[in-house]
Amino acid sequence: MTPAQPVLLRRGDFGPAVAAVCERLVLTGDLPTDPSVTDAAVEAVFDERVEQAVKSFQQRRGLIVDGIVGRTTYAVLDGARWGLGDRVLRYLPEHFLEGDDVAALQARLVELGFRPGKVDGMHGPTTDAAVQAFQAAVGLVPDGTVGPETMRAFQGLRRSVSGGSANALREREQIRRSGFSLGGRTIVLDPGHGGGDDGARGGRGLVEARLALDVARRIEGRLSAHGVNVVFTRTESTDGGSDEERAAFANSCDADLVLSLHTDHSATGAAHGAATYFYGHPDASGRGDWSVIGESFADLLLREVVARTGLTDCRSHARTWPLLRRTRMPAVRLDFGYLDHAGDADALADAQTLDHVAEAVVVALQRVYLGEADTARTGVLRLDDLRRHLESMRAQQAHASGAGADRTTG
Ligand SMILES: [Zn+2]
Repeated sequence: MTPAQPVLLRRGDFGPAVAAVCERLVLTGDLPTDPSVTDAAVEAVFDERVEQAVKSFQQRRGLIVDGIVGRTTYAVLDGARWGLGDRVLRYLPEHFLEGDDVAALQARLVELGFRPGKVDGMHGPTTDAAVQAFQAAVGLVPDGTVGPETMRAFQGLRRSVSGGSANALREREQIRRSGFSLGGRTIVLDPGHGGGDDGARGGRGLVEARLALDVARRIEGRLSAHGVNVVFTRTESTDGGSDEERAAFANSCDADLVLSLHTDHSATGAAHGAATYFYGHPDASGRGDWSVIGESFADLLLREVVARTGLTDCRSHARTWPLLRRTRMPAVRLDFGYLDHAGDADALADAQTLDHVAEAVVVALQRVYLGEADTARTGVLRLDDLRRHLESMRAQQAHASGAGADRTTG
């Protein structure tokens, strides 16, 4: 899927290029497979179904939702075919490798306290430096090439994360609770919608406005215990007004930070996952004006939410929405799940998931206000854990090969 000319496919188009797009959309889970179509490659038509699938993909990836496959959507869709480990990743100065596997690599490096730069799916020089630092830290040759050996180090890690991680998280959170205080800060919580506007609706009778308020209350309980002054933009019965009004309200509170809570809805029911948004121009070229703390909090928050809830990571995005732009303090919006997606709805119908979201907010807030020295720690992993894990893996391998030798000689 590397076209020579600029791609622009829209409703009404047909042919092999449309077939290639459909194939990708099926892989990303945005386009349900249609059993009545036997020869998709010949008959592929950019119909309403495809347009909805493109929109749901664009929405999840923070692209402009227009249902048209232009250059950007095409490039992101093309990058979505790569999973971490599918190909060897390295830094190519003349043409950065791009794709979901690069983003997964960057996210992994961030979790370990390395600094690959923005998690944007572009393998640039900062990511390269972080890969080399990671390799050196775990005793590999720091050549910057993410091949089988480096992948094994990451995969070993994934196993170590999955076992008993919830407990480890809780323990670390308790340690943080006792050793660190958010006391005295003012946080504005903005449950989306309300006052007659329910927002999105979905499976299991879920209503966005109610869910947002529910999570906000769970966050409030936890933050109040830390001595944080929590202010709501709305309650059950009051209307928060427009996003402009909510921003003005936060400014009048002289808040340290604003967190807006929403859920999503896609026309197809195929989109799923969580995303965060901070103030900044989506156009990655001149990085110009943006909120550094907002970005940092948005990244940390999403990571904590994904680690605790298992919702899909739909990444953190720069936006210029009124609530983000008009607030004088860092403002972040969290979209926790798609209500019309069966899996997300099941998760969100469980009060425990809502507690996990609330915990994620508290931990991310603590981390954002911690000093630079503590940024190597994460809610999920620490480098020490990785070193210990790799040592035990090597010991096991040595043991296994020794046992094999015994058998052949014996
Ligand atoms: Zn909403």
